[in-house]
Amino acid sequence: MRQERPYKSPGIKEMTMEVKLIGISLPVEMDNEGINVRDYNSDALLAEAGRTCYQSFDKASPENDRRLVAHMGAIGHYSVLEHVVPVFRIRGGSRAFTHQLVRHRHTGYSQESQRYCDEGNFGYIIPPSIKEAGLEKKFVAIMEQCQQNYLELQKKLKSALDEGRIPKHRKVNEDARFVIPNAVQSEIVISPNFAELRHMFKKRLTTHAQWEIHECFRQILLIVTQFSSAFDDINSWYEEHGNLNDFRDKG
Ligand SMILES: Cc1cc2nc3c(=O)[nH]c(=O)nc-3n(C[C@H](O)[C@H](O)[C@H](O)COP(=O)(O)OP(=O)(O)OC[C@H]3O[C@@H](n4cnc5c(N)ncnc54)[C@H](O)[C@@H]3O)c2cc1C
Repeated sequence: MRQERPYKSPGIKEMTMEVKLIGISLPVEMDNEGINVRDYNSDALLAEAGRTCYQSFDKASPENDRRLVAHMGAIGHYSVLEHVVPVFRIRGGSRAFTHQLVRHRHTGYSQESQRYCDEGNFGYIIPPSIKEAGLEKKFVAIMEQCQQNYLELQKKLKSALDEGRIPKHRKVNEDARFVIPNAVQSEIVISPNFAELRHMFKKRLTTHAQWEIHECFRQILLIVTQFSSAFDDINSWYEEHGNLNDFRDKG
């Protein structure tokens, strides 16, 4: 399904975190006719890979596969979990949030470029403390001022470029973005394999993690537990405690 465009609003506005699954590894069969998806179930692929270790293909069944995948997750049999890669589109997160996200090294990223995209109508994220302290109006006024600063610089840089006062290879948005705040929303697509995802949950679903990145992984956990048992132990702990502060793999 095509993504709706344009996503940017005609004026700057507040945005909230929204995570969507847009892709996932599935088991396939290939023959002379081409490639067919064998089963729309990523755990079937994980179980098939895992059964290679034990040569237990005769035990394959939906229920046994579910149990095997949950077991491999809980004991930390992570090389098997690397075979499945979900792809998520994340909108409504701040640039401050994405900067933390991209520190995770075993994940693919595609992020909206501030060099090529016009940020004149940026969305922004308002931190909860700003609202709790009654500073929302002040915050919105600051965002509007940042927008004005950006538009003014953009316009002046464009004139300088058109009049040949700066070198031709300069890109206007690339340098005007230096006055955009950390609060600016930044769209990003990520593809962490299941092993890395378990690691990310353990790091980011704790009380030490920043509230946005915690919310992002809370939404991702809700999504992946709908179709995989690889996170059953993490999900049970999180449902009981509301964080993974003392969570440990069983292995
Ligand atoms: C609560 C919190 C506070 C933070 N505060 C700061 C901060 O103030 N400043 C700051 O700069 N960063 C901060 N970070 C980011 C942190 O330092 C890491 O960059 C981030 O957690 C991602 O790295 P990672 O080790 O968790 O794992 P990933 O990059 O996701 O990698 C997963 C695992 O793979 C292994 N691995 C990956 N690469 C290597 C390697 N080169 N060598 C050996 N093993 C490797 C490690 O076991 C690692 O844990 C913070 C993170 C958290 C969770």
